[in-house]
Amino acid sequence: MNRNSYNIMALAPNTSKKRETVCIFGTGDFGRALGHKLIQSGYPVVFGSRNTQKSNLIPKDAEMLSHAEAAQKAAIIITAIQRQHYNFLTPLAEILRGKVLVDVSNNLKINQYPESNAEYLAELVPGAKVVKAFNTVSAWALQSGTLDASRQVFVCGDDMEAKQMVMDIVRALGLTPLDQGSLLAAQEIENYPLQLFPMWKFPIILSLGLTAFFFFYCLIRDVIYSYVYEKKDYSFFIAISIPNRICPILALILLALVYLPGVLAAILQLYRGTKYRRFPDWLDKWMLCRKQLGLVALAFASLHVLYTLVMPIRSFVSWRTSSSTISQALKNTTQPLNTTYAWLSDSYLALGILGFFLFVLLGITSLPSVSNNVNWREFRFVQSKLGYLTLILCTAHTLVYGGNRFLSPSSYKWYLPNAYMLSLIIPCIVLVVKFVLVFPCLDKPLTRIRQGWERKPQYSE
Ligand code: NAP
Repeated sequence: MNRNSYNIMALAPNTSKKRETVCIFGTGDFGRALGHKLIQSGYPVVFGSRNTQKSNLIPKDAEMLSHAEAAQKAAIIITAIQRQHYNFLTPLAEILRGKVLVDVSNNLKINQYPESNAEYLAELVPGAKVVKAFNTVSAWALQSGTLDASRQVFVCGDDMEAKQMVMDIVRALGLTPLDQGSLLAAQEIENYPLQLFPMWKFPIILSLGLTAFFFFYCLIRDVIYSYVYEKKDYSFFIAISIPNRICPILALILLALVYLPGVLAAILQLYRGTKYRRFPDWLDKWMLCRKQLGLVALAFASLHVLYTLVMPIRSFVSWRTSSSTISQALKNTTQPLNTTYAWLSDSYLALGILGFFLFVLLGITSLPSVSNNVNWREFRFVQSKLGYLTLILCTAHTLVYGGNRFLSPSSYKWYLPNAYMLSLIIPCIVLVVKFVLVFPCLDKPLTRIRQGWERKPQYSE
């Protein structure tokens, strides 16, 4: 669900009016928590329950009545009851006629029923004005007051006045109502709390798959090959060397995958000559999770930085340095400084540092608190122009790391190239295609297409 598109209603509660009594059906966890919060906000609350005996869990200022008696006392009735028990409302249909009936229910599975719970409630009690609200707020958050993460309350309903009354209550509780439109939106609102990081699924599955692939790839090349041919045990590479190979590879591939869908979309728009035809579903979904792909890439880049920082204190590295010094001493030789190599190594580090700095900047600007404070043009500048610059720097960092090893036969083991060579394929494709798209002969028509211009279809006779 795209939260940005929601109509965020005014936040200030209307405190001047006298609070109207609110009736809550059901004295379960949610009913009680909401009752407490309503009483704290100055609403008289009456509970409608199967059992009118007041337990000490019920707020002491609330009334406890039967469903029928409680419903008569209020114009708004909140049904804090599971959908499977809604049948008890049918005999109350006459009492509920013209009243606002608020459905707060959730299901256990996405699209569990053919219609939403709110629409089902509207069918059961046709005379009532059904409004869907509060289902994304938990009883625990209401009771403990930890509503920071879930301050937004999605509201939908067919009756504008009824919806307005519910939104007034939402505001009075210190929450933010988000008008989602008619009751048709209820299904989506009910599915919302059941989604498990929907935008993160693809980036996480993809990075797990790539991590597994590159782990075994590096294991074969760096550990098993050395064991088979040189009888050397490099199994300790699993702890730091292999992760430090995988992290930059994944950071680079995932960063390139953030920009690949944009490039594909541009090619598709140029081919179709219009922006008014929908992209294939897979491309739409891919575009929607670019931010998450970028953040996962940033996490891998940060891990690469940490692994690199501990390199000098590794015993393997100090052993290699000391044995090279001793061997030079024994041979009574000193290796002259190879300035070409020094240049390559310093450039490689400089590109990595700059690339990582821009990577972090991209990550920071994707945070809602920052992106809300920049205008669309600034956001696009950072995410597109600086994003491509980051991709160029990180690709160059990897290319320089390869140096002259790309063509050296010794860097191929069992015909397998170094893993970082594989990581360059997608970024290089993205950068080359982007470079081609920047040419005026392609950029101009693309800009016009994105401004709404359409190429007329050519009909053959
Ligand atoms: P609950 O603790 O199981 O309470 C449900 C209440 O429904 C019971 O206390 C009972 O109240 C009433 N009830 C049970 N069987 C009934 C029947 N056969 N006929 C009439 N009333 C019956 O559930 P809950 O956690 O409060 O959740 C209530 C609703 O709020 C659910 O639809 C849930 O999806 C929604 N919700 C809950 C949360 C949450 O954090 N818990 C968050 C958002 C939305 P009486 O004994 O007083 O009749």
